Amino acid sequence: MITNRHYAAVEAGGTKFRVAVARGRDIVADTTIPTTTPDETLGATVDFIREWGTVDAVGIASFGPLDLDRSSPTYGSITSTPKPDWSDTPVLATIRRQLGVPASIDVDVGGAALGEWRWGAAHGLDHFIYITVGTGFGAAVFIDGKVHHGMGHPEMGHITLERVPGDDYPGRCPFHGACLEGMAAGPAIKDRWGAPGAELTDRAEVWEMEAAYLARAIRSFTYVAAPERILLGGGVMQTEGLLELVRSKTVQQLAGYVTSDVLRGSLEDYIVAPAFGQDAGLVGAIALAMSAAG
Ligand code: ADP
Ligand code: ZN
Repeated sequence: MITNRHYAAVEAGGTKFRVAVARGRDIVADTTIPTTTPDETLGATVDFIREWGTVDAVGIASFGPLDLDRSSPTYGSITSTPKPDWSDTPVLATIRRQLGVPASIDVDVGGAALGEWRWGAAHGLDHFIYITVGTGFGAAVFIDGKVHHGMGHPEMGHITLERVPGDDYPGRCPFHGACLEGMAAGPAIKDRWGAPGAELTDRAEVWEMEAAYLARAIRSFTYVAAPERILLGGGVMQTEGLLELVRSKTVQQLAGYVTSDVLRGSLEDYIVAPAFGQDAGLVGAIALAMSAAG
């Protein structure tokens, strides 16, 4: 029976790795490992899993960018990252070889989307978008029942946005300046307003602007991909009332040009919080392990 299987799940983040062993989808052991060098961190990841025992498969939801071209000799490697030591790290190959079990990898948001689709807020949908607004702006598009990769994977945080009138913040993306991530991820909020989001909860203008940018992005994503739902999470979205504000600003952005019934009304079923919150990556890694096991 599938529920008697054991899966190793790795959420590989830029500051820490969360590693778990799950029986079915229930976590039975877990640990957190700081992200230092690839040798140390991948070594400690494999050691933790081996010390626990034998698993049937391993799933990895990793920070990127990743090579996800299945025909590439470096499939499953981190490609070029500003993170010291981690460029060209064969994350998938290393873990698979050392554990000797089937393994599957996706970017963190791709894994999270898969977990939300199997068990969470996108259960049963063929088309949806998973978004996390945190240290960066990450998103995955689920199309026709699977996470869309394309040539690599989408980088939806780097789209251009129409500027909110009166905002003269230059943006902080090292590549594009005022792209979506450069204007609306957590560090941009801190930079623009002089304090992290969690300390700005009573400043209405902060969240008006944040919601205005997120609504612009959601309008573009909606018209490009025609998702049935948008899951909107991450640290920034913990701000009370922000989800509702994004919904109402998205209604304005759509301006009555709706192409589907889910885009009518107040969008309560269209823009929703993910089910797994800060555990989305780890849950997603379990889902990836299950798909590797077949
Ligand atoms: P990461 O993106 O690094 O995985 P998070 O999703 O937790 O991590 O996002 C971290 C970002 O979210 C930081 O920029 C932080 O300032 C912001 N953040 C965290 N908690 C809150 C909160 N309660 N309200 C607003 N912003 C928050
Ligand atoms: Zn950018």
